[in-house]
Amino acid sequence: MPELPELEAFVIAQRDTLTAAPVAAVPVAHFATVKTIDPPIASLAGSRFTSVGRRAKRILLESEAGDTLVLHLMSAGKLVVGGKRTKTARLVVEFEDGPDLIMTETGSKRRAAAWLLHPDALAAELAHIGPEPLDPAFTVAALKGQLEARPHQLHAFLRDQRAVAGIGRAFANEILHAAMLSPYQRGAILTEEETERLHAAITGVLGGAVERLVPLSGTGLTTKADRGYAVHDRLGQPCPRCGDAIRRVSFEEHTVFYCPTCQTGGRTLADRRLSRLLRE
Ligand SMILES: [Zn+2]
Repeated sequence: MPELPELEAFVIAQRDTLTAAPVAAVPVAHFATVKTIDPPIASLAGSRFTSVGRRAKRILLESEAGDTLVLHLMSAGKLVVGGKRTKTARLVVEFEDGPDLIMTETGSKRRAAAWLLHPDALAAELAHIGPEPLDPAFTVAALKGQLEARPHQLHAFLRDQRAVAGIGRAFANEILHAAMLSPYQRGAILTEEETERLHAAITGVLGGAVERLVPLSGTGLTTKADRGYAVHDRLGQPCPRCGDAIRRVSFEEHTVFYCPTCQTGGRTLADRRLSRLLRE
């Protein structure tokens, strides 16, 4: 699933292209993908997008008519600017000049979604989302407040959109590796020094990934191969910091990747689903 860095890089790379000309038409708008009927998606035609932004894992295209097109790619959605309209296209926005914006989704599940929302409906949709980690207001003290308010283990904390916006399982793995913290550690009991380290890892890993991905986002959202992970999806490969083999453990329906030497004092984490089954 695309997370903050891929989406933010897309926004930065495509902002000028997507605001350059008015929308001509929305020739493809799959009924399972477009979740709203009022205002109708066809009403985008004739207006220019005045801003392209992001909140958590949503892309926001604000139209000069006042409504905002919200796109959420979920796990299998992709965004392409230009190129052919394939059979997997779920939403196509055609401009009076310039390349099409195409949202595709592969697989049989229809989870990627688009909404066209009036300003008050948009505000309601975004109201429950927590702080943006690359916003200067997201200070060490702000992180500390979120950690104290939520008793989760760190991997779950980072994925909680009410605690910190835009992070999913891949970047939770990357951030905890950079911070040298265990995915199972409880956030509420971090020391001052550990909180500072976690904050530096959140901003450093996400900010660095955005910078790396902007030049690769010229034709749309980057793919997995572009993301250059240190631990995520690298089972058995050497940790770039210490050379230990990257391990994997299942945790709350998610697969967590980590380095035992850097993150858990050399201990291998037990699969909690499995140990629960064994106890029963
Ligand atoms: Zn390591």
